[in-house]
Amino acid sequence: MNTRLTVLAGPTAVGKGTVSTYIRQNHPEVWFSVSATTRPRRPGEVDGVHYHFLSDDDFDALIADGQLLEYAVVHGRHRYGTPAAPVRERLEQGVPALLEIDLQGARQVKEKMPDARFVFLAPPSWDELVSRLTGRGTESAEEQQRRLATAKREMAAEAEFDVTIVNDHVRTAAEELLSLMGISTSD
Ligand code: 5GP
Repeated sequence: MNTRLTVLAGPTAVGKGTVSTYIRQNHPEVWFSVSATTRPRRPGEVDGVHYHFLSDDDFDALIADGQLLEYAVVHGRHRYGTPAAPVRERLEQGVPALLEIDLQGARQVKEKMPDARFVFLAPPSWDELVSRLTGRGTESAEEQQRRLATAKREMAAEAEFDVTIVNDHVRTAAEELLSLMGISTSD
């Protein structure tokens, strides 16, 4: 059996990470791709679990070997990429598989696997995204403007996706995603 890959993307600060965490904690039957990254490990992160933390040279080698399904520089800083082989293996085994990646990566997956299911996670409103982006108040006015400009561009990508899920409540958004993937959420 071959299952359909699900790709979850959306603008910065929309809460993809929180929705993913909910699914990880409540639905271990969903397999999450473990990305490779050149960003340094944060406290509490485990190599091989949260990410494969790689040097620039090792990341280059994965690209040269054609081992990445997609990769991108995220937030203009570090590289992130999806190892292709584990994704293909899970799909062949019929395991529901989820990629939580940025928009540039989602576009590359669409080129290579047009049959995947592309899900856009949207904020309840533009104002809500603005307040999530600027809410911490720790960034300079210039940095906030830069992030808002990025968010505006990212919101315009919604039309490229098959489905939009509005992230007004984490649990409801997660359950909508699970139901698209054909996973039962009644317990
Ligand atoms: P963080 O550094 O906070 O863990 O992740 C930053 C961003 O990188 C998130 O928006 C996440 O969606 C994106 N990201 C994580 N893994 C990948 C990947 O394999 N490919 C791409 N294109 N983006 C990724």
